[in-house]
Amino acid sequence: MKINTEGLKSFIPTAEIEEHLNKNRFADAIRIRDIVDKSLDKQRLNPDETAALINVTDPELKNLILEGAHTLKERIYGNRIVLFAPLYVGNECINDCVYCGFRISNKECQRATLSKEELIAETEALEDKGHKRLIMVYGEHPKYSPEFIAETVQTVYNVKHNKGEIRRVNINAAPLDIEGFRTVKSVGIGTYQIFQETYQEETYQNLHPRGPKSNFLWRLYGLDRAMQAGIDDLGIGALMGLYNWRFEVMGLLYHTIHLEERFGVGPHTISFPRIEPAIGTDFTKNPPYKVSDEDFKLLIASIRLSVPYTGMILTAREPIAVRDEVLRYGISQIDAGSSIGVGDYAHKDEESKRKSQFVLGDTRTLDDVIYELAHSGYIPSFCTSCYRAGRTGEHFMEFAIPGFVKRFCTPNALLTFAEYLYDYASERTKKIGLELIDKEVAKIDDPNMQSSVQENLAKMKEGIRDLH
Ligand code: SAM
Ligand code: SF4
Repeated sequence: MKINTEGLKSFIPTAEIEEHLNKNRFADAIRIRDIVDKSLDKQRLNPDETAALINVTDPELKNLILEGAHTLKERIYGNRIVLFAPLYVGNECINDCVYCGFRISNKECQRATLSKEELIAETEALEDKGHKRLIMVYGEHPKYSPEFIAETVQTVYNVKHNKGEIRRVNINAAPLDIEGFRTVKSVGIGTYQIFQETYQEETYQNLHPRGPKSNFLWRLYGLDRAMQAGIDDLGIGALMGLYNWRFEVMGLLYHTIHLEERFGVGPHTISFPRIEPAIGTDFTKNPPYKVSDEDFKLLIASIRLSVPYTGMILTAREPIAVRDEVLRYGISQIDAGSSIGVGDYAHKDEESKRKSQFVLGDTRTLDDVIYELAHSGYIPSFCTSCYRAGRTGEHFMEFAIPGFVKRFCTPNALLTFAEYLYDYASERTKKIGLELIDKEVAKIDDPNMQSSVQENLAKMKEGIRDLH
């Protein structure tokens, strides 16, 4: 792969962002209400509006934003939460990102790349828990070529263990060249995620001192190349704690606007991980711009309102209490039952920590997370119907097509949830889950839809699977 950034210019205007942030420091309740209303009217916000939201400090105004985000989530997306698991394929890396346990200079990291047999064992272990959607994660290394990524994805799709199968694989890996993205696309991936980490270029240069990732523009334009290769299902993200989070939210917005303007499609998902401690990585003990839980809520609600059509991902990096609370401000996907050491699902050992990228905040099992979600009235969903029907941009369709959620998403969420309950759930989860399904079916207002869901649920009880 030849890294070439000739002729590219950053689309992150640092001075302009600072100006937006400065100019919009003192919005009053009327302005905040107007901005929230614009978002509830399904319009993406502009940089001034987003800056006004993230600058709010007054508790009452903050509450308007949090409640606005909650209303938007309920009104457009309903109460489904999509579940997935990360699958770490290899932690070898030629970059030196100061915050990451996998960086080349970390002598405490035990390097590992799954062999084909190990990858199959990992996939089987995940299928046995009930997972249907994965994100496969790779360090950046010549070994992890586009062909390697494609082959490993194909291997995972081929594994059918007991009643299980993986129906959608997303990717989090280094940015490729256009040809590389084409190779990966050919095996039918879902979303390709690349986090910019920080949109502040100077900070970026300091924190990524060597390797291909030290090229800010190559990374910034990574998803443009993916788009040029025909992958239009893209995930952006910033790692919170490297620089002022307000600047990063503006960076995510500018990235969104860039993709919309250039390709007519914004990001499919936005991620906003906070830095977690990583073994052998002093930087993570005290990140310079640590985001407090209070600010994290405002950050999530502001992203929800700023880009109302996008999916929002919250990972198990976060502790349980934070996860439970922020779900209501617009999160659409979470991982559960996650292990982030290479090979951990099939064989967890004392060395696992040294093969992990960082330390997880939420280590509950998938079944426990599902129980808690159902207990709080959320419908856990493993739906992959859009992806498999060739409809890319599921979140966008949920957002843009009136009635889409009622016609497709809610019924499919209920069916995939029932599938989990019959095949994998503990007794207590099965009980609470089936009760929730009954309640949700009763709420379906179209009688034809209601009876079709009931029929499918009855078939599922008889052992028929993969109905949607
Ligand atoms: N190597 C590829 C890359 O850097 O894009 C993809 C995989 S990397 C393991 C996935 C993401 O993990 C990074 O983009 C970064 O945002 C995040 N990450 C790295 N170190 C972290 C830490 N200490 N805490 C939380 N997230 C971290
Ligand atoms: Fe390597 Fe990615 Fe970690 Fe950077 S974040 S050290 S590129 S695995």
